[in-house]
Amino acid sequence: MTDTVILWFRQDFRLNDLPALQAASRDKRRVLPLYILDQDTPGEWVMGGASRWWLHHSLAALAADIKDDGGTLILRRGKSQEVLEEICKSVEATAVYCSRRYEPWASEEEETLHEALSKSDIEFKRYGGTLLHEPGKVMTQSGGPYKVFTPFWRACLELEKSEPLSVPDVSWSDFNKSDDVAAWERLPTSPNWAESWRSYWTPGEDGAQQRLHEFLDESVSRYADERDFPAEDVTSRLSPHLHHGELSPRQVWAMCEQKKLETPASEKAIRKFQAEIGWREFSYHLLHFFPEIPEKAFKENFASFPWQPDRQRLERWQKGQTGYPIVDAGMRELWATGTMHNRIRMVVASFLCKHLLQHWRSGEDWFWDTLVDADMASNGCSWQWVAGSGADAAPYFRIFNPITQGEKFDKKGDYVRQWVPEIAKLPNKYLHKPWEASDEVLDEAKIKLGTDYPEPIVDHKEARQAALDAYEEIKGSSTPSS
Ligand code: FAD
Repeated sequence: MTDTVILWFRQDFRLNDLPALQAASRDKRRVLPLYILDQDTPGEWVMGGASRWWLHHSLAALAADIKDDGGTLILRRGKSQEVLEEICKSVEATAVYCSRRYEPWASEEEETLHEALSKSDIEFKRYGGTLLHEPGKVMTQSGGPYKVFTPFWRACLELEKSEPLSVPDVSWSDFNKSDDVAAWERLPTSPNWAESWRSYWTPGEDGAQQRLHEFLDESVSRYADERDFPAEDVTSRLSPHLHHGELSPRQVWAMCEQKKLETPASEKAIRKFQAEIGWREFSYHLLHFFPEIPEKAFKENFASFPWQPDRQRLERWQKGQTGYPIVDAGMRELWATGTMHNRIRMVVASFLCKHLLQHWRSGEDWFWDTLVDADMASNGCSWQWVAGSGADAAPYFRIFNPITQGEKFDKKGDYVRQWVPEIAKLPNKYLHKPWEASDEVLDEAKIKLGTDYPEPIVDHKEARQAALDAYEEIKGSSTPSS
């Protein structure tokens, strides 16, 4: 062993299939594992509340895994560059290795660090592992970036996927100056809105692996047919684990391929699931080539969309008090658990942008703060997709009808009854449109509309027309070709 490399953990909280760790051990260096809490992230991209909760537990799990392997995770708070320079000097480290990040601010930070560290003869190396394929690997025949998912994914499928890496033998290095994760106060206290979250989530690499195995063993065969029904526990719930790098997409891919061999009958369902991982890849691809996507309409004509900012409307949406049960159920599920089913994310996002004419960025911000999987690429691209302004977006006139969406995807009402218990006694016929129930039916269900549960915040038909009228104002203006 010659010198020390700092393994700078950022959003890749695992030891398996971590190319940066593999390289560090391969280079026969002692490895000092470090996480830096740097609160200098630009403005609104500072970690949201739900992500902070996850980070606390994920770091604790990573620290325990490293401890089991004989090392100590060093935790420090401060500016990344300053902390790295200080520790490199103290332990005479000759290199910093990390996994590449793709957020525009993070890429800039990596460039700055590269320059600064090389002045002190410290190597700064970035590795993949967060995506199946690095952005730029998949391009159109003319050499440009894809803007449509299907051909992008078809091209990805053509590429070979390498096998995941196991944990190498590591000679861990130590450093005597570490913070205590509890002192960072990442957990909510008054009120502790995450009190019950440990019953939904197990942050950390073990929790991620367990979830993946459970999903593939118990639910994946039903995925293709039932993934749109929020009351069914059919989707993987892997998104926060993938976002925090507790699991790599390559590991997911390899397990899926293995499962296909074991249970050929599930192949179609597994392929559908793999395509969803593809949407994650596509979001990162878009973020790489169009770094303004989380902040600015991809289709230029949407820059002049006549949004009608209204704090009261936004707050009623955030609190799940719109009077549309499927929307309210989703928003309350989000608050209570830190997640929301994908189908319902689309419904509530469409409702905010189109029925309430609130800017997609206000919804994106709320999700950023409240989702445990809040992800700059997937969140930004998905919001723009629903709003109609994004790459390969849903056509604007596709306005989700919150009543029929509820009736179709929550036919028996289990989802709404779980999250909007005050209307649980309504018969199915009225569950997704309580305002149509007669006084007798409402009395029977012990509901007084406007008191126990709100009247609808807008009339569906009028709101839909207002959205279409608003779109007419920008329809003719120029859009980039895709
Ligand atoms: P599964 O159905 O099991 O899918 C497997 C994995 O594929 C997910 O874990 C996720 O990593 C990926 N994936 C699935 N759908 C998408 C998608 N549409 N776009 C990108 N990746 C996808 N996903 C996030 O990870 N972070 C976000 O901040 C986020 N914000 C969203 C905002 C809106 C308005 C909408 C409509 C969708 C958003 N999504 C986001 C995508 C999707 O809703 C979640 O990834 C999914 O619900 C997570 O649940 P799951 O792990 O059970 O998904």
